[in-house]
Amino acid sequence: MTTQQAAPLPNPETRAGQEEMKRMGLVPFPVPDDLTRPFWDAANRHELVIQKCSACSEYQHPPRAACMHCGGSQLDWTRVSGKGTVYTFIVDHRNEVPGFDGNYVFAFVNPAESSKPTTRITCNILECDPADVYIGMPVEVMYKEIKPGITLPEFRPAPEAKLRSKGQNP
Ligand SMILES: [Zn+2]
Repeated sequence: MTTQQAAPLPNPETRAGQEEMKRMGLVPFPVPDDLTRPFWDAANRHELVIQKCSACSEYQHPPRAACMHCGGSQLDWTRVSGKGTVYTFIVDHRNEVPGFDGNYVFAFVNPAESSKPTTRITCNILECDPADVYIGMPVEVMYKEIKPGITLPEFRPAPEAKLRSKGQNP
């Protein structure tokens, strides 16, 4: 009996690795580390958590080892509502990243709990026409499992969002 070993995965951080992933039909995925693991573990449970400083009570995201507002080192992962607004976005038409077909929206979303521009969740805006997305659009979190054990928090228009494709003019 022979055994087969899986080929090593391409390195998603290099251009050559990205090209190889595109050829293989693989999508890039996050690799949790000590700093970010609580965020990804929560996403697997379909919960959205971000860091909150116990000294100054400010939220921050992306996660850091220290509070960007006061330098405090006691940061607690805090569950938030999953509601937010689009801080800014682009529509990518070039599709150079493997796994992304058609036009897609790359956005920063401010969670409802913190409107500071420095508290922003990087995501895609799904379940709508990219032409519908606007700055300030109310959105809500949704969860997309891209491989076993890796779930991305993504966002979609909240019910109160105005959609041009439905004749509403934001
Ligand atoms: Zn702080």
